[in-house]
Amino acid sequence: MAGTLMAGKKVLITGIANDKSIAYGVARALQAQGAELVITYLNAKAEPYVRPLAESLGAEIILPLDVSKPEQLDRLFTAIDESWGRLDGLVHSLAFCPLEDLHAPISECSREGFLQAMDISCYSFIDMANRARPLMKDGGSMINFSYLGSALATGDYNIMGCAKAALEAATRYLARDLGTQNIRVNCISPGTIATRAAGGIKDFASMLEYNQHKAVDGQLPTIEEVGNAALFFLSDLSAGTTGSIHYVDHGVCING
Ligand code: NAD
Repeated sequence: MAGTLMAGKKVLITGIANDKSIAYGVARALQAQGAELVITYLNAKAEPYVRPLAESLGAEIILPLDVSKPEQLDRLFTAIDESWGRLDGLVHSLAFCPLEDLHAPISECSREGFLQAMDISCYSFIDMANRARPLMKDGGSMINFSYLGSALATGDYNIMGCAKAALEAATRYLARDLGTQNIRVNCISPGTIATRAAGGIKDFASMLEYNQHKAVDGQLPTIEEVGNAALFFLSDLSAGTTGSIHYVDHGVCING
């Protein structure tokens, strides 16, 4: 639905891999309300999938970003500063864990796998928040994405549950830290959605079934529904909300 809720707002969107990505649902919802976007892609292999989507959304800057490479973060934030001189929104929609550590029983997770999962899935949000902060001259809004596996031992989420629990804690502390600068920091926790990243989870099909069974209306969330929740957080509609974990899971989290 077209509108003006995001008119004049400039938003950095990370984490689009393809048109099934949660970040793509977010980008569409924001663009439909007038947001101007910077969109990143992971690497040269991802670029042919992401660039056409970014162009169709009228993205003004399209750059590579692997968050484990500080020089790419430097380049991205310099480009935003030079082109826009400011930023209103940050969307962190990415996570990673080596498959052997994700699939192993958590007691067998390697130190390297644990550190990499934490670095890419949690620390990168702190890093990007710190880089975005000076550009958010009139305040702003930052969001990331978690999953119920942060709070419950559910399915084969394993080590990612630890990374998401850390990300949720980082959301609360960053909300307090950056609140003094009128920057809101929130986390959206969607139910299961069949995306590329989700496909890496062992027996993801059972997690989908569990979520559908536990949903109060028997429905799984869509990237459009998650995009609309993100629109709330990135727009002024959420002016009074920070540090929250907001579920878009059709009630799975409250259904005992
Ligand atoms: P996706 O595969 O479409 O997106 C994941 C993105 O992470 C990809 O674009 C990938 O390029 C990016 N990424 C991985 N490593 C990176 C790195 N080093 N640097 C930069 N980007 C990197 O999957 P998705 O489901 O849309 O995932 C988006 C977010 O939503 C993730 O944080 C995920 O944990 C979270 N989430 C997903 C679900 C679900 O069921 N799909 C549920 C709850 C939360």
